[in-house]
Amino acid sequence: MSFILRCIDCGHKAPYFPTAINCPQCNSQWREAEYDLATLSKTLPLQLPDRPFDLWRYHELLPVRNPDPSITLGEGGSPLIKATNLGLMLGCPNIFIKDERQGPTASFKDRQAAVSIAALKEAGITEMVVASTGNVAIAYSAYAARAGIKLWAFVTSLVPAVKMREIALYGSQVIKVTGSYDNVKRAASEFAQQRNLYQNMGARSIPSVESMKTIAYEISEQITAFLGADAIENNKSLWRTPDWYVQAISGGMGPLGVAKGFSELKEMGFINKEPAIAAIQTAGCSPMVTSWKKGLETAEIVEEPRTHIETLATGDPGRTYNLLRKAIDNTDGAFESVTDEEAFRAMHVIAKMEGVSAEPAAAVAFAGLFKLIRAGVIKPDDTVVVNCTGHTMPPEKFVLGDDWARNIVFPENETEKETPKEGILAALSHVVPERFSRVVIVDDTTEARLLIRRILQSQGDFTLFEAKNGKEALRIIRRENPDLIILDLMMPELDGFGVLDELKANAETENIPVIVSTAKELTKAERERLKGQIQSLLQKGDFMSDEFLDEVHTVIN
Ligand SMILES: *Cc1c(COP(=O)(O)O)cnc(C)c1O
Ligand SMILES: [Zn+2]
Repeated sequence: MSFILRCIDCGHKAPYFPTAINCPQCNSQWREAEYDLATLSKTLPLQLPDRPFDLWRYHELLPVRNPDPSITLGEGGSPLIKATNLGLMLGCPNIFIKDERQGPTASFKDRQAAVSIAALKEAGITEMVVASTGNVAIAYSAYAARAGIKLWAFVTSLVPAVKMREIALYGSQVIKVTGSYDNVKRAASEFAQQRNLYQNMGARSIPSVESMKTIAYEISEQITAFLGADAIENNKSLWRTPDWYVQAISGGMGPLGVAKGFSELKEMGFINKEPAIAAIQTAGCSPMVTSWKKGLETAEIVEEPRTHIETLATGDPGRTYNLLRKAIDNTDGAFESVTDEEAFRAMHVIAKMEGVSAEPAAAVAFAGLFKLIRAGVIKPDDTVVVNCTGHTMPPEKFVLGDDWARNIVFPENETEKETPKEGILAALSHVVPERFSRVVIVDDTTEARLLIRRILQSQGDFTLFEAKNGKEALRIIRRENPDLIILDLMMPELDGFGVLDELKANAETENIPVIVSTAKELTKAERERLKGQIQSLLQKGDFMSDEFLDEVHTVIN
């Protein structure tokens, strides 16, 4: 698969690397992935029939070079359900629900997380920061757990506690920020810069936007299966598309990526019509809707969102507004807003009429659908797909105990612009220690290193280093002066016994605690050799993650 990033400001093309955020020519952060669509238009039709119906079905159109099958959770391929009762009630018989609740963590954010984490893992990234209104952090946490990536999740204190606990359950560090979502993003960004960590940048993160395209591809294939092919052109039967695609938005990345997906299908000649896109916001936080209705080029910011639907509380959409506005105008689509009450009512309607229990944010899209049909914008014979974006399943409160989150409180009456940077830094120093314990993991197998890394990431503040043999280990240990070494015994170059001998022969390293983790059945002589040299001995395949953590915490504290 080959693709390139094209800067939307200056047109410069450059290869993709996740940590290289800016265009090398003009420094813009707004770039788009471009694929060889001419070739794909010929190869894909031959290959698709043999592929499973999941997100990776379209891997040539995603910005991951070699998707790692070991981190998948079965993302994508969500069902398209016909909403017969709704259709009858609304006099619009062709309404379909794209049921994104059926993703691995129960929202469409799974697509973003699956593709982003795959791209980050491929780039060797092991720690990252997200700012989230809930679902992004949940989805990324699940995939981060599988990929061995430590996740710092910054959320507003208004995010429902059940969602925060779900994030913590996956082993991510929750940082609860008392302040608006825009403040959450500022705190996360300061933290990422301070610790030099990769940060998810919403619509500027290439894999996130690109992952959303798969919704468009799937819908086209599914609608075609339901309603039959569209026109036949040049002996080729075209995929069908709906007349409307409706989605609730916060930052607006979802429909932006979906629109790109439809336009790529058109460019490849698979479809001949792109659906109109309807983006729905809640009235208490609808900067894009009001700005679009006023015909503004730039979105007016909502400083204080007034909605109970925290998932949708992005007050400052930034440039995503300009891009989405263009996509919506190009397709003769619409922006619309609905009140929280209308959304709650829609929640009841779709649960009771269609058996679909959605979270309030997803219900916003349905309330928008009702409104657009009533207003005559969506016509009775239009085919409509509504994205049912999410459904949450909360972990019970008692499962997590008490200290699963850390808190940052922004002073109440200071507006965002007045909170000085020093204030954010001071707040951050309360929630994370100045100095993290430094641990070197020495093991020759990738899976074993990943397992230990993940165990340590999931509970505690560690800076981790990895070595794949004894020689590399000694180099890293001498350079980093760690607080703890996790040591495998059987390794090429220099084995664990050899490493221990070297460490103990040197005054600078002789007192660094060592935990041996080995698959080796030790002989009596070998046991003798380790005596007094190490803090503890763990048999691989014979410890659980919590037991391992207990050992680590008794050695360093
Ligand atoms: C994130 C989210 C949205 C909003 O999507 P954006 O792409 O950020 O605009 C809507 N519904 C649910 C359930 C979400 O998790
Ligand atoms: Zn540029």
